[in-house]
Amino acid sequence: MTRPVTVVTGGSRGIGAATCVRLAADGHDVVLGYVRDGEAAEHTATAVRASGVRCVTVRVDTSEEADVDRLFETAAEALGPVTGLVNNAGVTGPLGRLADTDPADLRRVVEVNLLGALLCSRRAAREMPARGGGVIVNVSSAAATLGSPGEYVHYAATKAAVDALTLGLAKELGQDGIRVNAVAPGVIDTDIHRAMGDPGRPERVAATTPLRRAGRAEEVAAAIAWLMSPESSYTTGAVLRVAGGR
Ligand code: NAP
Repeated sequence: MTRPVTVVTGGSRGIGAATCVRLAADGHDVVLGYVRDGEAAEHTATAVRASGVRCVTVRVDTSEEADVDRLFETAAEALGPVTGLVNNAGVTGPLGRLADTDPADLRRVVEVNLLGALLCSRRAAREMPARGGGVIVNVSSAAATLGSPGEYVHYAATKAAVDALTLGLAKELGQDGIRVNAVAPGVIDTDIHRAMGDPGRPERVAATTPLRRAGRAEEVAAAIAWLMSPESSYTTGAVLRVAGGR
């Protein structure tokens, strides 16, 4: 039996890395995208291959159309036609009020979180129908419905757009046998908080989270793996919240 071939953007670290490892355990060959941290990408790829599946790493800025084309072309050459896509790559920029946020940071967050997901989804939507189907999972955020005032309303806005993309594309591609869903994580313990200038954020937010703790990347990966699997065969257009009750 041929294995699913799944592209995971931002697969080098955090939620993406946990997703690559989990999908490998579920029998997927994995195309692992990363933008800067080649060492982390190779480290995760080694963990993926330990499950006995194939893994190729590709350096790709998902906000660049040519990079996205190269990602899918490399995937097809190395592992065969892509059957699944996890749009996980994302950035927040520094924490703060909108009035104080640098326009360059606004632009970057929109380009990576929204344009990147659109470009990768577009490429998948051009390839998958000819093969009779496929699965796309977008990594959104609980921020999409919380709004994140004082922290990053621009980031929340891009994730709300990802939810709209999920719903619209699910309706557009359902007849082609392609399911499109999203997960909306709450505060998960990854490097992203350090990158936004607040490494202590997961611990602090835990106090106001109903389950009284931050989530682990593996807990989000489990939800993504379910949405990628035939177990969720009648689920499309859904946003699955994995946020400890937030
Ligand atoms: P992370 O630990 O900071 O990892 C980010 C990943 O995205 C890395 O693999 C990074 O690659 C990659 N990346 C960044 N910019 C990219 C670009 N332009 N093109 C391609 N890849 C790029 O982040 P995380 O916490 O795992 O977050 C993953 C996703 O979950 C994001 O979409 C984020 O918005 C979402 N999310 C996270 C949380 C949370 O609390 N952690 C909550 C809700 C939603 P390099 O390793 O090469 O830098």
